[in-house]
Amino acid sequence: MELYLHIPFCKKKCRYCAFTSFPGQSGKMEPYVDALIREANQQKPFFPEKVETVYLGGGTPSLLPEALLSRLVQGIGEVFSLYDVAEFTAEANPGTVSVSWVRTAATLGVTRFSFGMQAYSEKDLNTLGRIHGYRDVCEAVSLARDAGADVNLDLIFGIPGQTLPDWRQTLEKALELSPDHISAYGLIPEPDTEMDRRLKSGEWELPDPDVERAMYDLAIRLLAESGLKQYEISNFAKPGKECRHNIGYWSQIPYLGLGLAAASMTPPLKASAGVTYQRLTNPDTFEDYFRLVSGPDSSLRTVETVSPPEARFETMMLGLRMAEGIREDRFASLHGISLQQAYGNKLEQFVRDGFLLWEDGVLRLTRKGMDFQNQVLVDLMP
Ligand code: SF4
Repeated sequence: MELYLHIPFCKKKCRYCAFTSFPGQSGKMEPYVDALIREANQQKPFFPEKVETVYLGGGTPSLLPEALLSRLVQGIGEVFSLYDVAEFTAEANPGTVSVSWVRTAATLGVTRFSFGMQAYSEKDLNTLGRIHGYRDVCEAVSLARDAGADVNLDLIFGIPGQTLPDWRQTLEKALELSPDHISAYGLIPEPDTEMDRRLKSGEWELPDPDVERAMYDLAIRLLAESGLKQYEISNFAKPGKECRHNIGYWSQIPYLGLGLAAASMTPPLKASAGVTYQRLTNPDTFEDYFRLVSGPDSSLRTVETVSPPEARFETMMLGLRMAEGIREDRFASLHGISLQQAYGNKLEQFVRDGFLLWEDGVLRLTRKGMDFQNQVLVDLMP
């Protein structure tokens, strides 16, 4: 199984951010770390499998003081064995990392740092409200390399005011740092963010959809030319450097998420009508989270039972994100019915329309299908 630890602290809220993260809450860090360890103890009986990957996300994990980071990883390590962990990622904001933080994290077992570079130019970074510049990214990457870890850079395209040449420069500057992995996401303005308000008021404007599509095509081409192969709609890696943790999510491996707003997926249960599992979601305020872990009131955690048709749809939704697609035999062994039985004519129509490709027992999106994946998925919804 996979383990996710959410660190909801940030120095400043970015203008586009809808994640569960809060500036100015450093006084809560210590009780929060202790709460994470307590929650791990409480959830252990329901998640008995071996931990294969760990992901320390946020928020900004690199804001945790080293002593608390050590307390957290050691405390979790007393609950779950972390000896066999194949990949341990820590997200870090390039504006907040130090030599000693990176070294401490690596000593604690971090094998991979994920830095939110997002953009190159000051103009785009200002629009996003980021606290760092490109020099900080260069330094952060070199610290990670010195610590012997792999590096991911997160990038965003489709920023208000961003042009195709701006995006090309972001890609080129990211590639100059030779990352093992790049995640390139198209910006989706989230409700109730400063960016959303500025877009709605007309103060800012998103790039034209054709320009955004050209940005995505450019990313695929430039990254491939540099040896970063696309293995998922938004993710590119050198051979063997794909993010195992995320592949686990897309392959529906059970995961335990600890912390504010963290989600978990229980191991699958075989039901007469197919496979089913539960999805648990933690509360998203400190107050409710602290109450959840300190008392017996587990009603503060949302529990949703995923029905067999929903579980099958999730296999489609997540599996089609990956370049390797969905294997017919895996689908059948997971759900007890074949892809044809579940979706028959619809899939054949999508193949005829050029959105899906079905060959050698594998179903995957075509390049055209990647642009229209939402339409494909809406039609497959239960
Ligand atoms: S650093 Fe990340 S989590 Fe924090 S405010 Fe910015 S986008 Fe949100």
